[in-house]
Amino acid sequence: MHHASSDQPRLIDRFGRRVDYVRVSLTDRCNLRCIYCMSEDMEFLPKAELLSLEELDRLCTAFVRRGVRHLRLTGGEPLMRRGVMDLVRGLSRHLETGALDDLTLTTNGVRLREFSVGLAKAGVRRINVSLDSLDRATFARIARGDVLHQVLDGISAALDAGLRVKINTVALKHDNAAELPALIQWAHRGGMDLTLIETMPLGAVGEERSDQFLSLASVRRELSAYWSLTDLPERSGGPARYVRVAETGGKLGFITPLSHNFCESCNRVRVTCTGTLYMCLGQDAAVDLRDPLRRSVDDGLLDAAIDLALDAKPKSHDFMVPVRGALPAVARHMSVTGG
Ligand code: SAM
Ligand code: SF4
Repeated sequence: MHHASSDQPRLIDRFGRRVDYVRVSLTDRCNLRCIYCMSEDMEFLPKAELLSLEELDRLCTAFVRRGVRHLRLTGGEPLMRRGVMDLVRGLSRHLETGALDDLTLTTNGVRLREFSVGLAKAGVRRINVSLDSLDRATFARIARGDVLHQVLDGISAALDAGLRVKINTVALKHDNAAELPALIQWAHRGGMDLTLIETMPLGAVGEERSDQFLSLASVRRELSAYWSLTDLPERSGGPARYVRVAETGGKLGFITPLSHNFCESCNRVRVTCTGTLYMCLGQDAAVDLRDPLRRSVDDGLLDAAIDLALDAKPKSHDFMVPVRGALPAVARHMSVTGG
C-alpha cells in the first residue's frame, strides 16, 4: 500500500520553486488530429510501452506523498485510455484523505457525455475542455474531425453533472481569429471561463507554424477596443494571466508560453504516458520514471529518480516566437508531453 502522508520531503527545486502540480499523460493516442498538435498520419507508441493503470496510480501517489496537491490527467485524449475511470476512482482516495486538493483532466470533450457523471461522482469538480470553433466546418478543419456536435453535447452533459468547465481555445491566425469574441461570449453566457492559448512550436505537424501563430498581445489589444478588461491578481503558477470582461461578467485567460514572465513561479512538472518526467514543457531535460517503477515494488528508486529530476529542473524554457522554416523548439508533440 502507498499511504499518502506529509512526512516526506516536499519537492523544492534548486531555484526554490515548490512543485505541487503534476500533469500526467495517460496516452499519446487521440480521436482527433488538431492541426497545431498532430500530423495527419501520426505513429503512436506500442501499447506495451505505456505505463499500466497500476503504475500510473503508483506514480501519482508517489507525487502526492511528496506534497503534490494538484493532479491533471491529460494526453493525447485521456478519455481514450481504457480503464481511465478505474484510475480516476482510485486516485480519488487522495481527495478523500485531503492529501490532494484537485483531481482534474483536460479533454477534447468528444466522449464527455459518457464520462461526466462518473467523473463528478469520483470527486472531480472541474475539467478543461478544448474547443477552437463553434462553426462546424471550421471545427472540422482544425480538429480534422467533424465532431463539433458531440463536443457541445459533452460540454452540456458535464455542466449538467455539476462539473465546472473551463474552455481552452488555441488562437490561430487564419482559422479562428475572427471568431474569438463570439467564442468568449458563448462560454461566458454558459457560465464557463475561457482561456486563449498561443500556439507553441512543439513537434512536427506538417504545417508552417509561423503561419498559424497569432500573438495574444494583439488579440488582447483588439478585444480592449470594445470590451473593458480588468486584470485579476490570480496566478496558477503557470503561464496564464486572467482578466474579467465587464461586458460578459466572465473570466478570460491568456496563456502566452512564449513569454518568460512565468518561469520564476513555475510549480509544475509533466509525466508522459511512458513515464518520462519532463521538468519543463519547453526543454528536453527529462528523467525516466518507468524503469524505477518496474525495478522495485517499493518506491525508493522512484523517489530517488524524482529527486534527481527536481534538481535538474531548468530555470526557464527557451521558446522563441516562430520564424519561418524554423525547426520545432522541442521535437516532441504536445500530445506526448501532455498539455
Ligand atoms: N486531447 C486533450 C485536449 O485536446 O484537451 C488533452 C491533450 S491536448 C495536447 C492539451 C491542450 O494542448 C489542448 O488545449 C490543446 O489545444 C493544446 N495544444 C496542443 N498542441 C499545442 C500547441 N502546439 N500549442 C499550443 N497548445 C497546444
Ligand atoms: Fe488530440 Fe488534444 Fe492534440 Fe487535439 S489537442 S489532437 S484533441 S491531443
